Amino acid sequence: MTNKEDRLMQWLRDAHAMEVQAETMLSKQADRIGNYPDLKQRIERHIEETKSQADRIEKCIDRRGGDVSVLKDMAGTTTAMAQAMGGMFAGDEIVKGAMAGYTFEHFEIASYEALKAAAEEVGDPETAKVCDQILKEEKEMASWLADHLPGVTQSYLKREEADVEAKV
Ligand code: MG
Ligand code: FE
Repeated sequence: MTNKEDRLMQWLRDAHAMEVQAETMLSKQADRIGNYPDLKQRIERHIEETKSQADRIEKCIDRRGGDVSVLKDMAGTTTAMAQAMGGMFAGDEIVKGAMAGYTFEHFEIASYEALKAAAEEVGDPETAKVCDQILKEEKEMASWLADHLPGVTQSYLKREEADVEAKV
């Protein structure tokens, strides 16, 4: 039998691992971008948010009496997306990377919706509040990517056709 508290703790650790991995993915992605400054800048801003999210989740784990030293365990669920965002693509890397980013933000949104529900079920309003704060940031990032994906795609297509560097 697994109780609610144990399951909440496991999901907090999963969320922490997700953010640690997100920081790595986003950093690799941003470092490679040279010709799409708005996208680069927005990703860099989200890297700072992501670091802070990892800290906030770690504090929840700590407050609930969890062991922070076992946080290195990776959930593994985000590995495919990590590859997608880390520069695994050929010519259309910038477009595929932006698509992967959009997908990843929605994976994060789903994770925090579930985590928030679990925190409420267990009676931990503080963790639920942290989830709400983080959800706001993930939704803002997802919606920024949704708004800018068409422009990045069209800019990429024009650059490619004009034979100027388009890839990243
Ligand atoms: Mg995040
Ligand atoms: Fe995010």
